[in-house]
Amino acid sequence: MQLFRASAANKLPATDVDCAAKLSAIFNTNAFEMEGSVEGVSEGLSGVCILASRINHSCLPCANHRYNAKQKTYAIYASRDIEVDEEITIAYVPPTQSREVRRADLRKSYGFDCMCKACDLSTGFGKQSARNRAKIEELQAGLKASRKPGVRRSGEVEPLRRVLGLLEEERLGGGYEAERYVPSSFSSKDSVTDSADSRVELAVALKDNDELPQAVAEMEIAVELMGYNYGKDTVYFAKIQENLEGLRRASVERR
Ligand SMILES: [Zn+2]
Repeated sequence: MQLFRASAANKLPATDVDCAAKLSAIFNTNAFEMEGSVEGVSEGLSGVCILASRINHSCLPCANHRYNAKQKTYAIYASRDIEVDEEITIAYVPPTQSREVRRADLRKSYGFDCMCKACDLSTGFGKQSARNRAKIEELQAGLKASRKPGVRRSGEVEPLRRVLGLLEEERLGGGYEAERYVPSSFSSKDSVTDSADSRVELAVALKDNDELPQAVAEMEIAVELMGYNYGKDTVYFAKIQENLEGLRRASVERR
């Protein structure tokens, strides 16, 4: 959302244009998207939050954020255990991207060079993190390229387990695994989804590989994460629960 229209700004005195441009820049770098994405409806809204907009970025975030269209509230919640005295941080860009991609994104959209531990290549930790996230990106690209409508996804079990393992290593499991649940796997049976880093996808791959009890176990974790991350009053939570019930029924029938 823009704070003002460029055509209107042209009619303002120079000092007002400067002021409006400054306000617009402040708004754009501090605003959160508040579209009704949890309900699958995009309202194209953004807003600045008094407290939440002050939270800094990290590629090793300990919190995540979500707008609940039903409650019209913006929530910041822990995405993993938070250390004593640790700063609460969120990721302004998808943290699972490779170091180069996310840093370029941050520079372009927010105008800063990230100085977090994951970006610091002078340490062993930073170097390992860069390798892990590059690997995540490579595995995800392979998964997405292999998906075709109507093709069983049994071959995805191992690469998805590797992606989830790497996310865990990067402390981006848990809350961040739920990031990609929407709209993956829900639309139609044969849909090609763009998500390659969630428990839902792993459950689908396990089902296609005829490992139904394991598929149910992964979907149970997904439901728990979904309830925590999106709230239990959302359409997506109802859908993922339906998905779980379907898997449970199939698993019982198979016995
Ligand atoms: Zn960083």
